[in-house]
Amino acid sequence: MTTFSIDAPALSRAFVDRSEDLRSPDRLARSWRSAKVLLVSPGGRLPTAVTPDGLQLVFEDTARWGAVPPHGAVLLGRLGGIDHWAVSYQGPYEGPNAGPPGRNKPADADTIRSIGPLLTGDEAVLATTAVALLAWHDAAGFCSRCGRPTVPDISGHTRTCAEGHQEFPRTDPAVIVLVHDGGDRMVMARQPSWAPGRFSVLAGFAEAGESLEATVVREIGEEVGLPVRDVQYLGSQPWPFPRSLMIAFAARAPRGADLRPRPGEIEDARWFSRAELRMLLRESPPAAGPVAGITLPGPVSIARRMVEGFVKAG
Ligand SMILES: [Zn+2]
Repeated sequence: MTTFSIDAPALSRAFVDRSEDLRSPDRLARSWRSAKVLLVSPGGRLPTAVTPDGLQLVFEDTARWGAVPPHGAVLLGRLGGIDHWAVSYQGPYEGPNAGPPGRNKPADADTIRSIGPLLTGDEAVLATTAVALLAWHDAAGFCSRCGRPTVPDISGHTRTCAEGHQEFPRTDPAVIVLVHDGGDRMVMARQPSWAPGRFSVLAGFAEAGESLEATVVREIGEEVGLPVRDVQYLGSQPWPFPRSLMIAFAARAPRGADLRPRPGEIEDARWFSRAELRMLLRESPPAAGPVAGITLPGPVSIARRMVEGFVKAG
């Protein structure tokens, strides 16, 4: 069996202490004064600053909020002996990277998609946790069991309704699959809604009651009509858009098998050789030839790591 490995994805590069023991109300109140807070603007925009050490998140001290964390604040974890929090910020962004007033930024500016790879591993994890937790709070205002309003606990890691039903942040598991032929080629495909020329590995959500291995086999069969085996775990990355966890696998398909893209879901699917993938991984992919006009997923994605891992294994 051919085995692959991938480098840690951009948003999975570090471990911040997020122990449940950190969330006791007394401890949180005691350490609030020395804590740091990240203001997250609508759309998951994050305040950053360029420093001699590179791009960094801009955390504020807690002076403006008084003695205890404000309603809706979320504890991200403890790093360097300091509690790090995030707060949803609804006003116009006035922080260090606000830029000239009235100037439109690209939709991805200042979001994890654009800045994730530029941050240190610790900061990328804090940013990802902030975006994921705040998105959950936005969507979890009412109890899923009885429909009554819910309120967050002090740490922002649970919500409870008047009936005492407790809810926890949701994460939806999705598999993302490097389908290879045991030799020199792997599969990439594109969805009709993607930017022209963008290809990536295949992915899909696990269904209720389904194992991840079964999801891999089902999704690849559905999307491109390939039977796969030798399913191998590669790594994972949180993908809070709004609440996925991407779990990466490699799986082997018969060499030379025809790809049958599922109409409406997959617009095109192809086998790519390592030589073609090497060309695509360059900063300037070729303007002519079989891979002209094709682009790969960006550096923040685990999909990119999977393509890089496949190329390195050859
Ligand atoms: Zn309830």
